[in-house]
Amino acid sequence: MKTNFSSAQLSDPRKKEADGILRSCVHCGFCSSACPTYAVTGDERDSPRGRIWLIRDLLESEGPPKDEAVFHLDRCLECLACMPACPSGVDYGHLIGTAREEIESRGRRSWRDRLRRWALLSTLTDAARARRLFALARNVRFLAALMPSRVAAALRLASALPPASGAGPRAGVYPASGTRKGRVGVLRGCVQAAVAPGINEALIRLLNRAGIEVVVLSGADCCGALDKHLGRGDAARARARAVIAAVLDERDRKGLDAVIQTSSGCGTMIKDYAHLLAGDAAWASRAAEVSVLARDSSQYLAGIGLAFRPAPQPLVIAWQAPCSLTNGQRVTAEPPVLLRAAGFTVVEPADGGTCCGSAGVYNVLEPDMAATLGDRKAATLGALGADVVVSGNVGCMTQLAGRVALPVVHLVEMLDWASGGPPPRGVQGRAGGRGALEGPLTDLLY
Ligand code: SF4
Ligand code: SF4
Repeated sequence: MKTNFSSAQLSDPRKKEADGILRSCVHCGFCSSACPTYAVTGDERDSPRGRIWLIRDLLESEGPPKDEAVFHLDRCLECLACMPACPSGVDYGHLIGTAREEIESRGRRSWRDRLRRWALLSTLTDAARARRLFALARNVRFLAALMPSRVAAALRLASALPPASGAGPRAGVYPASGTRKGRVGVLRGCVQAAVAPGINEALIRLLNRAGIEVVVLSGADCCGALDKHLGRGDAARARARAVIAAVLDERDRKGLDAVIQTSSGCGTMIKDYAHLLAGDAAWASRAAEVSVLARDSSQYLAGIGLAFRPAPQPLVIAWQAPCSLTNGQRVTAEPPVLLRAAGFTVVEPADGGTCCGSAGVYNVLEPDMAATLGDRKAATLGALGADVVVSGNVGCMTQLAGRVALPVVHLVEMLDWASGGPPPRGVQGRAGGRGALEGPLTDLLY
């Protein structure tokens, strides 16, 4: 793609990078068929190719961005399904990130939109505030039908999963059972800690049982992904620095083999810290060190010896691959392999890592598109004849709970159960007799 940046514009490292990305696009359109929003609207401006044109115009121009560009770029899920589909290796993920920051810094959003975005970030990036908000939402959910669509969507999502019990693991050290084989760090998180604190509790039990000491880090909770999704680059970088400091302090004090994420959206963010802070001389190399340590829980668990008991029940599991795991981290094999090793039968929908419409806070800001995508994903999962839906991202779990008539739980909760932990809520007794075991699996080393 031809570009026309001025030399002054190219002195900005972010525009310089965007120029290179834009020039690598040859307009072939191979990416369009992978794009969920294009599949819904059929509008070229809702396709990756169309958005790349809009981004070029946005970045080359000055002054407030055009409404057309803001509208169609806001409708991008940042699911990154277009990237593996692109034969030219166009780095759309970093391009849309730059465009979003540009819109926020130059933009003229309505006061309502600004207020909505501020309110979402102020509550969801703080677990205690988010917990209070979700409790309130459950109490007033009956008012959803009377509310504007975005408020109604927020109320439904906030009460989609069963109420959380407790506040999740406290910061501190959780020692390994028996001989210690490793030591990892875990962030307390923000939304997940409020909605489903049991996920990290399950991870800690599972790792401790496998001989891994876990440190729940203090001093940083939110990874900054929600800020980044909304184009608030400076806020995202500030959160990233706090996480980096917490991780490296602990690594330098007592050692860490990895930093584990149970939310694939956070994992994608932390693995990209090296890029996020590449222009910050004081933090760039430290950011790269943390990106190297970051592992999705499935990646780490697949690399250690997990001992499973005979499968608790002959359940058929529909694996819902989050787009942030499939496209953002290119982790695809590990979750189904682990579930099969634990004795479950795994089925997967034909649309694989197609986004379910959750995408950070997209399902609140773009409720109509998100509902369409959520219903489509629920239909493909529901048609598989499974007993349980298992995911690797709390956002997807929230989006799908209530849309599928099945329990929706996290991968580590199932693996914890299969290795001696408690059953995930709603799962016990679900087995419909389908999914014959592939054989008892005990002490199976992956
Ligand atoms: S597939 Fe790649 S090169 Fe082709 S239009 Fe899409 S982004 Fe551009
Ligand atoms: S990130 Fe997802 S929604 Fe956005 S253009 Fe790419 S495929 Fe489409």
